[in-house]
Amino acid sequence: MKLLQEKIQKEGIVLSEEVLKVDSFLNHQVDPHLMQAIGMEFAERFRADNITKILTIESSGIAPSVMAGLELGVPVIFARKRASLTLNNNLLSAEVKSFTKKETNTISVSGDFISSGDKLLIIDDFLANGQAALGLLDIAEKAGAEVAGIGIVIEKGFQQGGRLLRDRGVRVESLAIVDGLQDGRVTFRKEENT
Ligand code: 5GP
Repeated sequence: MKLLQEKIQKEGIVLSEEVLKVDSFLNHQVDPHLMQAIGMEFAERFRADNITKILTIESSGIAPSVMAGLELGVPVIFARKRASLTLNNNLLSAEVKSFTKKETNTISVSGDFISSGDKLLIIDDFLANGQAALGLLDIAEKAGAEVAGIGIVIEKGFQQGGRLLRDRGVRVESLAIVDGLQDGRVTFRKEENT
């Protein structure tokens, strides 16, 4: 997605050869116009799949998911990373090792909002080693819901998550695939440059 690549080139900060900071439009401050375009792109790619709900994870998955949900006309559910006073029964949970924080979180969704009749689109901001996506797939499976695919805003193609998921037969649609973060520069996978 050209607009996204341009934004990453302009505002992305390479923190290391493994970590890209995009706090100015995705992970802290949010660019609503870009999120709308991202939501429309996800909706376009999954429009034929009869999605009933979008499943994401707090907090940075929420903005692109809401925009996609608006476009597809379906609700958005976000998995919570922390215990909540109000989220206390009928829980569907999974363990997720955080890439950025190097800690393991139990993520949870209320079983009230996902059921066996659902066809889910899973969305997240980044795909690194695939732990967050695997946790969300786990929750979908526990609910008995079908997963049409996973939409990722920024996939780091040099880490293992994309291969892991695709090898399992999961459809992964990434709007930008970063191939490297060398010398402070972001390089994108060739076919994504068109
Ligand atoms: P994974 O679970 O695929 O290993 O990592 C994905 C999660 O870690 C995403 O939800 C995202 O929050 C975070 N993440 C992974 N890599 C990066 C990165 O390079 N930059 C930022 N900002 N977040 C990342």
